[in-house]
Amino acid sequence: MTSLSLRSISHAFDDRKVVDDVSLDLGTGEILCLLGPSGCGKTTTLRIAAGLEELQHGTVFMDGQIVADQNVLVPPEERGVGLVFQDYALFPHLKVIDNVAFGVENGNTDAKRRRAMDMLERVGMSHHAHDYPHMLSGGEQQRVALARALAPEPGVMLMDEPFSGLDVRLRDRVRDDTLALLKEMQTATLLVTHDPEEAMRMADHIALMKDGRIVQQGTPVDLYNRPVDAFVTRFFSETNEMSGKVSNGAAPSPFGDLPTNGLADGTGVSILIRPEALSPKRDGAPTKILSSRILGAYTLVRFVVESTGTEMTARVPGVLEIAPENINVGLDRSQCFIFPH
Ligand code: ATP
Repeated sequence: MTSLSLRSISHAFDDRKVVDDVSLDLGTGEILCLLGPSGCGKTTTLRIAAGLEELQHGTVFMDGQIVADQNVLVPPEERGVGLVFQDYALFPHLKVIDNVAFGVENGNTDAKRRRAMDMLERVGMSHHAHDYPHMLSGGEQQRVALARALAPEPGVMLMDEPFSGLDVRLRDRVRDDTLALLKEMQTATLLVTHDPEEAMRMADHIALMKDGRIVQQGTPVDLYNRPVDAFVTRFFSETNEMSGKVSNGAAPSPFGDLPTNGLADGTGVSILIRPEALSPKRDGAPTKILSSRILGAYTLVRFVVESTGTEMTARVPGVLEIAPENINVGLDRSQCFIFPH
């Protein structure tokens, strides 16, 4: 069952198209991340889904019913969506419990407060029920905002960069707790983020946008391991890049010829190799190490391949305490991608 569908959504501001023919499907209980660089149209797409931005072109369905098209416009408060933004947006003059009870529609005041307390317990904030928002830290305020959005049990949650105001450690925790709660409540969620790691951590599916269009949709593994172009590859990690021409069905690389899956001979190609694809290997290509930098869980090793003079970076797990001057380097071809220019 699909909770939210966007069909052929396009949107322009002052004749500048910022969303261009976007279609998305969000299934029941699914978390879909809308990912992309700043300004690519993610927030505008989410606001159109919420009904906060007037629809210009396309159709929005919720639970199979049209909520926005050329003839229909259901207002945001009647769409049954929960909203969480980066800035929490709690009511400063209301206690935490009253903030959460505010959105609960059914029941008398006592029932609403009981429901609010239940939600606060689920986000680990019941001990702050009688505090005011200004007495809470950023992470605590974001938990309350989540409880408030989930209290009415919305069919769909729309979240726009909800964790980006939190510091790194806190972000990981709030993110994991939020993921567990959304899954427990089986709430279909569209989450906007510019952070590929966050998308991979949270999402069942990712839709990656660029210049208003969706470039690739799929599972995190699809996008990471089977990127459709150089933009998608680069969005998820650093890359070593080189160009070449296909000859005998293969592209040249410092580690020998690489199969191109049917590209015609003479085609100019970009070859993108992730740093983690390169590691010390006894029978690998001889290289000279230029520098070695420890980054905690892994070491970045900059080296030059002796046969071709190509400078590259490898990401080697663990700490390489004393870097030798020369090492042989092997290539894991699953993290090496070839695209025609
Ligand atoms: P970010 O991650 O930086 O929030 P985004 O991918 O969410 O970016 P949007 O906020 O959807 O992008 O904006 C897409 C483009 O539309 C941007 O160039 C932005 O400046 C422009 N834009 C957004 N809202 C308006 C508006 N109300 N009037 C005019 N231009 C707008």
